[in-house]
Amino acid sequence: MQLTIDNKRIDVAVGTTVYDAAKQVGVTIPRLCYLNLEALGIENKPASCRICVVEIEGRRNLAPSCATLCTEGMTVKTSSPRVLNARKTVLELLLSDHPKDCLICPKSGRCELQNLAIRMGVREIHSIENAEMSTYRKDQSPSIIRNMDKCVLCRRCETVCNTVQTVGALSGVNRGFMAVVAPAFEQDLQDSPCTFCGQCVAVCPTGALTEVDHTPRVVRALADPTKTVIVQTAPAVRAALGEAFGMPAGTLVTGKMVAALRQIGFDYVFDTDFAADLTIMEEGAELLSRIHRMLEGDSNVKLPILTSCCPAWVNFFEQNYPDMLDVPSTARSPQQMFGAIAKTYLADRIGVRRDNLIVVSIMPCLAKKYECRRDEFKVDGNPDVDYALSTRELAQLIKEANIDFNALPDDNFDAPMGESTGAAVIFGATGGVIEAATRTAYELFTGKKCRQIDFHELRGMEGVRTASVDFDGTPIHIGIAHQLGNARKLLDGVRAGRYHLHAIEIMACPGGCVGGGGQPLHMGNAQIICARQQALYREDAQKPLRKSHENPYIQQLYNEFLGRPLSPKAHHLLHTRYFDKSTNN
Ligand code: SF4
Repeated sequence: MQLTIDNKRIDVAVGTTVYDAAKQVGVTIPRLCYLNLEALGIENKPASCRICVVEIEGRRNLAPSCATLCTEGMTVKTSSPRVLNARKTVLELLLSDHPKDCLICPKSGRCELQNLAIRMGVREIHSIENAEMSTYRKDQSPSIIRNMDKCVLCRRCETVCNTVQTVGALSGVNRGFMAVVAPAFEQDLQDSPCTFCGQCVAVCPTGALTEVDHTPRVVRALADPTKTVIVQTAPAVRAALGEAFGMPAGTLVTGKMVAALRQIGFDYVFDTDFAADLTIMEEGAELLSRIHRMLEGDSNVKLPILTSCCPAWVNFFEQNYPDMLDVPSTARSPQQMFGAIAKTYLADRIGVRRDNLIVVSIMPCLAKKYECRRDEFKVDGNPDVDYALSTRELAQLIKEANIDFNALPDDNFDAPMGESTGAAVIFGATGGVIEAATRTAYELFTGKKCRQIDFHELRGMEGVRTASVDFDGTPIHIGIAHQLGNARKLLDGVRAGRYHLHAIEIMACPGGCVGGGGQPLHMGNAQIICARQQALYREDAQKPLRKSHENPYIQQLYNEFLGRPLSPKAHHLLHTRYFDKSTNN
């Protein structure tokens, strides 16, 4: 169909919105609530902010371009004086009920509302005189801070929380001036079904949802001469950190990241990938033991085994599947395995008392902040992992420390907990954990060398996928899901007998940890997420060792300290238990 936008004629397909048609003629209409989560195949377009209004010839009212479909012969003006005036008035109204603490807001510099005010030249807010702002109680969970004074009711968080993740922690409550997006019954987030995946934070346009910042506590520890401060970095961080310094998505910055952390003052710079290899040893041994029991005819064996590296997923199944708590692997996540080994084996090796050793992790994830606070991961109140910084917080710390990140030479991780295989690197991409487990489990199960290292059938971006791998005559059926809504579909399918699987990998975030809630904001952009995944596969391909059980430092750890996978000591330090949290639901 044909229409005219700002005096330019254009042909568009039926069903095209005025917003998208304008884009095709090079006009980007400002917007606030609208968000196209293309990686998730979902659009948030409540048309509630009215920033994207346009004038359509023959219509009395201005129309929101994000929710108005093009019609034949339509004539649209995107920036007439009437449109500019209306947009500015709407924006001023939004700003009149918004705190004016931009200088110290955690979203300052990245806030879409602030950017709009700059773009639209707002210099004063007429409607503010004598107006009283609504005020809300701040809600701080271990991972996420909700500051509803800054909510613009765009409902992006609600779409992600309910439609994509099917968590149901955030929804619109009350009406009119009292309307707010919040957990039901005015619960705090930590008493709600929130899993702390952080995807709501990743799409919030303002400072209404932000992460709990551990940076000041880390800096204090670094300045304390009585403390030895070590750091571990998760695989997905190296594939996204460069974006915060202007590099294209998918640029690997492993060496620069290590150099920056050393310059910041960490005593040892280690790699969570080491613990990812350890996870495969424990989780792989658990998988094989269950498969052997199944082959021996044990009808009580719990299959499919579910991965347990993702703390948001762990929260989700504790709340939604309390009858299945004995099904997931009991292996702790790599972050927590690292902490437990650091505060025992490493502390002994370097002669530092547990309470003087501070373990910091750099994670793509906000749920990791909650995970390291869980009571199961403490000894006499001392946590195995003291603080978890997100990739965004690390980028900020590097900038604060005045480090010219782009000019840094590459540096290497410290031994012994900085050594890892390619299998560990791909933990950061959906399907990566199960691919890493397959590389090791195949060799341990068959006793033969696994000639195939890349299992392309386990890779990809489909939300739910299944594949079979031939273990020398025994077919092993594998399921993979990323994002919790897909996890629910897969698990409900298993319960209903639609899937017959031996092992399932689940990650809460789009594309796996590369799309985590603590990464540089990707706004659901599939290209960014895929570029980060590919970066991890490249690093995997370049590694001299690509199977977790070949890591010589892991072999040394078992020889010197743990004995063997699933030994009582390994169980004590590297495994966990789960709790029925269905009351949060
Ligand atoms: Fe965290 Fe990764 Fe799970 Fe997302 S997928 S919640 S980043 S562990």
